[in-house]
Amino acid sequence: MPDGRFAPSPTGPLHLGNLRTALLAWLFARHDGSRFLLRIEDLDAVASRAEHEASAIADLAALGLDHDGPVLRQSERRPAHDAAVERLVVDGLTYPCYCTRREILAEVEAAVSAPHGPLPAGAYPGTCRDLTAAERAEREAAGRRPSLRLRAAGEVVTFVDRVAGECTGAVDDFVVRRADGAPAYNLVVVVDDNDDGIGEVVRGDDLLDTTPRQVLVARLLGLDVPAHAHVPLVLGPDGERLAKRHGSVTLTDQVALGRSPADVLSWFGASLDLCEPGEAVTPADLLTRFDPDALGREPWVLPAELLLPVP
Ligand code: GLU
Repeated sequence: MPDGRFAPSPTGPLHLGNLRTALLAWLFARHDGSRFLLRIEDLDAVASRAEHEASAIADLAALGLDHDGPVLRQSERRPAHDAAVERLVVDGLTYPCYCTRREILAEVEAAVSAPHGPLPAGAYPGTCRDLTAAERAEREAAGRRPSLRLRAAGEVVTFVDRVAGECTGAVDDFVVRRADGAPAYNLVVVVDDNDDGIGEVVRGDDLLDTTPRQVLVARLLGLDVPAHAHVPLVLGPDGERLAKRHGSVTLTDQVALGRSPADVLSWFGASLDLCEPGEAVTPADLLTRFDPDALGREPWVLPAELLLPVP
């Protein structure tokens, strides 16, 4: 049975939105009788912190979301990531890009009024795609270190998401290796999901837009494309995507307000129509009531009272 996973980036404490997504990923996996893996996406060595990794692991345990096997760490898999980049290079599917972020922005803005085919707004305009050897040498001589982009050239990808349904997107020439040499997220996540044996990727629907890139990269590397389920996000009471600025949004904050992890789990369950508000439930209880095909597409707007102390 293919596995499921939760893959947090330890760049800050998990908030209630991340934790509700973790619950859903756990429910999807366990409902299918799959293993549930925990992978720490600590690719960004500068922003990742051991304390955030530890708190993510502790939060899942406090909510009763168990995982199988050891905690996986993306940072330990650099050779596999580098090998995947190399394969794309050898297959002639990449090109070096010398653009700075600012140059790309300027070009994208200048092109706003021009017709731009099926690519999403803000997509890389392809500036470096057809540089001559002399033009490349000129940029190297000026000390510019290139990133490596995939020659996707607007390839249109369709996949069926278990929550969002059929999705189609054109893929831009996205970065597969950053200018500092580090393999980029959209490549790494594909390699890791494949090597970890992930059959279904369950995550927040903020990542739906980038999924066509990952599907394309999997196909180009000759890997099986996993199933996807992009679940609705949690919004703050103001309707904006939940963030630190909303206040007491971490499990630790909630405990300080007087709510136990079990209380928070009950709120999540009620938000998914799996229990009554205030009902004492365990993840196993929620699992018996969970139907993946009945999950709605509406985000959950966090009730304002959840950001206040328990009366
Ligand atoms: N590490 C990513 C994040 O925390 C999630 C990546 C994924 O689930 O594919 O946003």
